[in-house]
Amino acid sequence: MQTSLSLEQRAIGAYLGLAVGDALGATTEFLTPNEIRERYDVHNRIIGGGWLHLKPGQVTDDTGMSLALGESILEQGGVKAVPVARAFSDWMRGKPVDIGHTVRRGIVHFRDSGVPCVPENEFDAGNGACMRCLPVAIAYWNAPSAELVEASRIQSHVTHNNPQADAGTEAMLAMLVAAFRGEPLSTLHTIALNLVEQQRIYRFDRRAVENPSGWIVETLQVVFQAFFAHDNLESVLIDVVNRGGDADTTGAIAGMLAGACYGVEAIPRRWLKALDRQVRLACEQQALALLELARTAEWGRTGLACTDGDEDMPDPSTR
Ligand code: MG
Ligand code: MG
Repeated sequence: MQTSLSLEQRAIGAYLGLAVGDALGATTEFLTPNEIRERYDVHNRIIGGGWLHLKPGQVTDDTGMSLALGESILEQGGVKAVPVARAFSDWMRGKPVDIGHTVRRGIVHFRDSGVPCVPENEFDAGNGACMRCLPVAIAYWNAPSAELVEASRIQSHVTHNNPQADAGTEAMLAMLVAAFRGEPLSTLHTIALNLVEQQRIYRFDRRAVENPSGWIVETLQVVFQAFFAHDNLESVLIDVVNRGGDADTTGAIAGMLAGACYGVEAIPRRWLKALDRQVRLACEQQALALLELARTAEWGRTGLACTDGDEDMPDPSTR
């Protein structure tokens, strides 16, 4: 952990880490490690392609949904359920390059019912809520943990309402916040181990997970294994994206975590240069704006910044 980094370097590093991880991993998404080795030997360049036929530097839903969530947080001064659901619905209307099945179902549920929360479902343990959690971590980095958790559940349950997904996402948020606070790596390791303590299925000390699915457990096992095995952002990201599977999302989550720990200067220049310029600017601006919100917000004092949004619930008949 770099202890001399500023909060700004960490927040921007996390946001750009998310975007470069997404752009890098999209090339190898749904490939197996063997297929990746045959095609690229080691995949370490942002070249686009992949099953989505992306342009070099183009990002996917992981970054797109994060930016949509961040915009809503900035507009509302916090995480509010209906505005977040509307932001996701607007994002989907913009015809994103990809969208997960559970995310689509949750957004359709909101459009049909006006309710910004899906019923609890044992099959909703996908990584879709975790992949977009970064703006919550930045806006609430200095908030009491109860408010961070409440904000996390509000944004998560628009599409994913599942205890396994909640626990994984909340552990990731706690790790991000610890990094923003300049805590040592041992603190982040303890947070990961606490998750395993709560839910043994998250154990990540066994064989290396390859070809991870979109299941939050496999996603975080890959991220933890790579993050704790290397001491720099570049190696962490190359490790996860060469394991294939849901590589854009393991890339996005590993990228936000490593970026929060090692700062924006740790991101290879060639990756930043390759990243879509508009995306890069949006990530930088949003990271700073969310930090400003955190600075001025009165988390823990008013209790108003984070609500379930019921007060402005839309009338379903009007949509
Ligand atoms: Mg994606
Ligand atoms: Mg993915």
